[in-house]
Amino acid sequence: MAQWLDAKVVENHQWNPNLFSLKVKAPAFDFVAGQFVRLGLDLPEGRAQRAYSLVNSPGAELLDFLVTPVVGGKLSPSLHLLKPGDHIQVSQPASGFFVLDEVPDGDSLWLLATGTGIGPFLSILGTEAPWQRFKRIHLVHGVRFAADLAYKAEIEALAAARPQLRYQPVVTREPLAGALRGRLPALLASGELEAALGDKLDKGCQLMLCGNPEMIRDSLQLLAGKGLNKNLRRQPGHVTVEQYW
Ligand SMILES: Cc1cc2nc3c(=O)[nH]c(=O)nc-3n(C[C@H](O)[C@H](O)[C@H](O)COP(=O)(O)OP(=O)(O)OC[C@H]3O[C@@H](n4cnc5c(N)ncnc54)[C@H](O)[C@@H]3O)c2cc1C
Repeated sequence: MAQWLDAKVVENHQWNPNLFSLKVKAPAFDFVAGQFVRLGLDLPEGRAQRAYSLVNSPGAELLDFLVTPVVGGKLSPSLHLLKPGDHIQVSQPASGFFVLDEVPDGDSLWLLATGTGIGPFLSILGTEAPWQRFKRIHLVHGVRFAADLAYKAEIEALAAARPQLRYQPVVTREPLAGALRGRLPALLASGELEAALGDKLDKGCQLMLCGNPEMIRDSLQLLAGKGLNKNLRRQPGHVTVEQYW
């Protein structure tokens, strides 16, 4: 049964006015990289609780959440206002099947995120499993503006330390050196993403998609056209998804 843990905010890092990382200290609990918990707050208008992916890997001292405050949303604007020392509730056990154990074997692992969807991938990349299971790992982060590329410096440092990893930022609304420009499904369709990564989307690939529903819907459709179908427990495939709303 779900249990609520009291957690204390240690840091609320503002990447920009529309994106923040909430780092909290909670009693230790087990989870699998890629899973999510619920965050809960008692607000004047009633209790609010929502799902958020863990960005930290298992065993980290602090829990880390990457959040966008949704205008008019019930919980996320209040999370945005939290300060060090404030309390928040965290549900456990963690939930979800967006974990590497659910992904069949392959040669390459393509991790495609929009916005805050990068979170579970950072958690997964902080464990040993992906490096042992896949020869090549591609982390693709699609955002609107360069300032939305949260954790960019950390990811670049990881890619420098792990030659298996290629990191490809994608920015839709402004040019950025080294970044592709366009929506992820369009870059998949045109072959630009494969060209930038120097790799082919074929049956040796496993893809994980996380983030906004249109990206996931359009990418699934496009990938199905290449014979890469959704991965289901009853029917293993090549594309494992986590949709945020
Ligand atoms: C498994 C899972 C993991 C999630 N992990 C994260 C995470 O790591 N970080 C994160 O920021 N959110 C995450 N979400 C979304 C999160 O649970 C909330 O839906 C979001 O924070 C909005 O909550 P709210 O109470 O502020 O808005 P609500 O009052 O619940 O909803 C307002 C509206 O905003 C839409 N919406 C929800 N999220 C977004 C968004 N990011 N951009 C635009 N519209 C949106 C919803 O469709 C809804 O109609 C996750 C969702 C799921 C299902």
